[in-house]
Amino acid sequence: MLKNITRPFQNVLLERKLCVGCTGHLTKAKKIGNLSENRIMVECKCKRRYVYEKELAAFKRATFAEEQQILSMIAKGQIK
Ligand SMILES: [Zn+2]
Repeated sequence: MLKNITRPFQNVLLERKLCVGCTGHLTKAKKIGNLSENRIMVECKCKRRYVYEKELAAFKRATFAEEQQILSMIAKGQIK
């Protein structure tokens, strides 16, 4: 029981594939592009970005490095 209380609320939402900001369904989030074959960046309607890990079948918050990677890919025209 104590474990459930101390467990970060954000993780609970992410396990349910819900945005931690607006609790929107991340399965409906806009796909931005692939970081790699098994990692897809998506953007929620509230502009928060997440990475879907195909191998884990789970979403996590995009890191700063991942945000930079996708921005650089967009700048290079690799992603429309
Ligand atoms: Zn959201």
